[in-house]
Amino acid sequence: MAHGNDAHDLVAANRILVDQGVLDAFGHVSVRLGPGSDRFLLSRNLAPGLVTAADLLVHDLDGTPEGDQRPYLERFIHAEIYRARPDVLAVVHSHSPAVVPFSVVDVPLRAVLHMAGFLAARPTPVFEIREYAGDASDLLITSAELGRGLARTLDTGAVALMRGHGSVAVGASLREAVYRAVYTEINARAQAEAMALGTPTYLTPGEGASADATVGSQVDRAWGVWRDRVSTPATPEAGSAR
Ligand code: MN
Repeated sequence: MAHGNDAHDLVAANRILVDQGVLDAFGHVSVRLGPGSDRFLLSRNLAPGLVTAADLLVHDLDGTPEGDQRPYLERFIHAEIYRARPDVLAVVHSHSPAVVPFSVVDVPLRAVLHMAGFLAARPTPVFEIREYAGDASDLLITSAELGRGLARTLDTGAVALMRGHGSVAVGASLREAVYRAVYTEINARAQAEAMALGTPTYLTPGEGASADATVGSQVDRAWGVWRDRVSTPATPEAGSAR
């Protein structure tokens, strides 16, 4: 299979994100085909828990996939973030449930955990689709223009929320993007619990940067544990008739 390692890891990432409660029947994860590449790998339109290597499609930065299989409606999220952010090698878009409330209130999502130092640089921005699509849209990122708007909101950050919809998390590797998506959900849960008790003390940007540098070397440990919990289907042998 072409793009063997990327494909193998992307299938695992889909299943990990379902197992960790970040993706459900919806949402998606992609990986850029190497630093500087203008192509990325993303499943065809399919629930993430069912994705196999045979379902992965190479897309270009216009969001156009090779072949004639039906792509995800919101592939422009990935395409326009890769276009705007050469440093980004992987993107997760999810509707993870503890994060969504922070997209609809005037309290920003902020880092309360040392494991979420990547959230500490700024109050997490929220993409308001009404600024681009009026007040009767379906809230989905179904065009390059909306994808560009979301990429502008993300700016140089690791995470952006989408009002009434979900979020995106990006990373310099697939494992980092997966890690950030999982810990964005965990941090959101912890922040809401802390706010129910009292007024949280948030990590400073300096603490976040230091914690992120330390934790960054632990991303592989998290991946290993999460990877061990999920099974991935065997890749069909090349040339098999299946
Ligand atoms: Mn969505």
